Amino acid sequence: MGGKSYYCDYCRCFMKNDLNVRKLHNSGLSHTVAKVTFMKQFEDPRKLLEEERAKIPCTRFSAKKVAQETVQKASGKTFV
Ligand SMILES: [Zn+2]
Repeated sequence: MGGKSYYCDYCRCFMKNDLNVRKLHNSGLSHTVAKVTFMKQFEDPRKLLEEERAKIPCTRFSAKKVAQETVQKASGKTFV
């Protein structure tokens, strides 16, 4: 590759050292996720634990909801 290249520390990848290329890369989703992941390792573990505990667990694929839907479907068929 001719010319100088830019190395992104967060994504660990090389790219063309061009202003527009770097701007596009820095606004991208993969770079943003990599940056947040990188910066989290320097945060206080207690704060991270509190943040993770404050999250609402996903109920979309939970066994309880699937069981309720199965019961509803089964009861709907019996009454029809
Ligand atoms: Zn990057």
